[in-house]
Amino acid sequence: MKLCRFNDDRLGLVEDGSVIDVSDALSALPALPACAYPLPCHDILIAGLADVRERIEQLRSDARIPLSDVTLLSPVANPGKLVAAPVNYQAHLDETVADPVTFSREHVRRIQETGLFLKATSSLVGAGATIDIHHPDRRTDHEIELAVVIGQRCKDVAPADALSVIAGYTIGLDITIRGPEERSLRKSLDTYSVLGPWLVTADEFGDPVGRDLVLTVDGEPRQTANTRDLILDVPALIAFASSYYTLHPGDVLFTGTPEGVGPIKPGERITASIGGIGEMQVDVVAR
Ligand code: MN
Repeated sequence: MKLCRFNDDRLGLVEDGSVIDVSDALSALPALPACAYPLPCHDILIAGLADVRERIEQLRSDARIPLSDVTLLSPVANPGKLVAAPVNYQAHLDETVADPVTFSREHVRRIQETGLFLKATSSLVGAGATIDIHHPDRRTDHEIELAVVIGQRCKDVAPADALSVIAGYTIGLDITIRGPEERSLRKSLDTYSVLGPWLVTADEFGDPVGRDLVLTVDGEPRQTANTRDLILDVPALIAFASSYYTLHPGDVLFTGTPEGVGPIKPGERITASIGGIGEMQVDVVAR
């Protein structure tokens, strides 16, 4: 099942290039509308996804909206945290080693030494938004990544069990200013975390190994890779992350970018696709 959020927080089922409005399925969430302060540290929709999916099957209608007529929001509205993997493809590590001017030396290490980092949830937007360049004097890069959405509260997950805690997958853009500062500063500006175009549930997506990632800028190929080349694969990343953090429904794991990162400028359009998910286009603008 492909689920999107669109327009004014509507819930959509994506089929054959169009959207079926299934917002009424949100009534299956026991926390709504009673949800009150203090809010939970997880995403309510992802936590109740099984019940919502059941309602969606009952609500399926023939009223279809063309995808081109909707504004796509982040498929996860309220992730408790955005966990991200640095330099998790060998060829990307090689390109960072080869270019000391662009890639600050203190950030060029193996992921097993660097560990993971967090991006601010306030940086998150969907495919219908724009990427707003905040510091045009700094080099700002695109990074396409397979993004994993956690489906249940978990801690110390064994790699063999890791795929069972996943709610679904989406395309992640980890937009990044290059430079010497901490990653959490350079990658957490408003609009610098893009998720979209929708969530593909884990049962539909299947094995995350062997997925092609392609990113172009104004049609020019920049990143072409495959998730089989991840240094730490999805189960290893979940095991690693959950050995430090309790993971909650809706937490997002950016699995790291492959080689071919490069600068983006206002006026350009990013097209990003991952096999089994789909494609999204995001415009870059001056803030
Ligand atoms: Mn990244």
